[in-house]
Amino acid sequence: VAAHSLPMRLLLVEDSERLSNLVAGGLTKEGFDVDTVTTVAECLSALATTRFAAVILDLGLPDGDGLSVVQYLRAQGNHTPVLILTARLSVGDRVKGLHDGADDYLGKPFAFEELVARVRALLRRPASYIGRELRLGKLAFDSEAREIAVDGAQSAIAPREAAVLEALMRRSNRVVPKKM
Ligand code: CA
Repeated sequence: VAAHSLPMRLLLVEDSERLSNLVAGGLTKEGFDVDTVTTVAECLSALATTRFAAVILDLGLPDGDGLSVVQYLRAQGNHTPVLILTARLSVGDRVKGLHDGADDYLGKPFAFEELVARVRALLRRPASYIGRELRLGKLAFDSEAREIAVDGAQSAIAPREAAVLEALMRRSNRVVPKKM
């Protein structure tokens, strides 16, 4: 399955019904498939059963802090991009969120256009679609660290070779045009 043919399914975690309806409605109009949940517990169960292209996450949730979701995901090796929506605007909070593995921040209140632009930017990151580790036979390629392993043995690779290898691995079993 080609990465770009996957449905753009988003998970929106927001306990304010008004904001959730507004954001989900807007993103649906933009062509996304949006699942909505209102608690940390619902969010974790959705993430356990469904693969999302990105998660839009409020921090102040009724049963806990949204940051615990980010920490949990990253601890599981799940690199689904996370955009945090929050009224907490201190630099310390932002730094903590990014340190915990969030990919981006948007302070409330926000303009809907900015939310869409940020979600699209997250989705454009290649690793967003199919995770950062690519595997093909004996070959494993970490697209973030740019490291390659053959049969588990690390091997050095030049940046240009890494880019070519990644393009080929992401499109395995298909013809890759020279230009690409
Ligand atoms: Ca909230």
